[in-house]
Amino acid sequence: MSIVVEQLARRFNRGGSPAVSKVSFQAPEGAITSLLGPSGAGKSTLLRLIAGLEIPDEGRVLIDGVDSTQMPVQQRGVGVVFQSYALFKHLTVRQNVAFGLEVRRVPKAEREARVEEMLRMVQLEHLGGRYPGQLSGGQRQRVAFARALAIRPRVLLLDEPFGALDTRVREELREWLHALHERTRLTTLLVTHDQQEALEISQHVVVLSEGRVAQAGSPSDIYDRP
Ligand code: ADP
Ligand code: ADP
Repeated sequence: MSIVVEQLARRFNRGGSPAVSKVSFQAPEGAITSLLGPSGAGKSTLLRLIAGLEIPDEGRVLIDGVDSTQMPVQQRGVGVVFQSYALFKHLTVRQNVAFGLEVRRVPKAEREARVEEMLRMVQLEHLGGRYPGQLSGGQRQRVAFARALAIRPRVLLLDEPFGALDTRVREELREWLHALHERTRLTTLLVTHDQQEALEISQHVVVLSEGRVAQAGSPSDIYDRP
């Protein structure tokens, strides 16, 4: 499942400079692709356009060859994880993970089985009855991953998923994501402003600057390293 972005553009203010300006790139199937660049470069906007959370002024998004530009979020088959977890505070961990499955009307028995499978995957089966406020940051982010993966997405979209975590937990979760990806080969797009993170975890890097693609390629194509 590749992601192909063609000439995507989004401007928030009339007369202002576009947040995303005719951006084209491909995220290869089965790889982790990093969208790298400084704050304000347009990374989050681009991710939201791909996710269907934002409508482009121009251009289109193909997910596995299917034009998804006009599709609502639920039909795109995308799992999304944000920096700020975005969990529902009045729902338990289990209910949070089940949420996308309820929206998609997955039958109860299958839903429950999948939720348990996801909780095991993120090693939180013992905390299914807790509320987000009773969890650590790392645990919350694992719930967010479980919720995103429960729908069996075709692609995984991650917006600074480690950004709110302290160094040790970040390192742990990054290794966990790496192992998950080795197992699943899920096509993944990772927004980050951390070059080191992009180089460590991704096979493909797209550098954004002022709403445009500055560079794209493998880490060794782009960066001169010993
Ligand atoms: P921040 O202030 O968020 O750390 P930086 O200006 O340091 O932002 O940029 C974030 C990352 O994006 C840096 O690690 C840098 O290597 C990379 N980057 C920014 N512009 C380019 C570019 N034109 N080509 C390659 N890498 C770039
Ligand atoms: P990044 O994720 O690289 O930090 P963003 O996509 O968040 O960049 O922002 C790119 C530009 O678009 C910034 O100038 C930002 O202020 C602007 N922007 C993003 N979202 C909105 C919005 N909802 N309304 C107005 N401007 C926005």
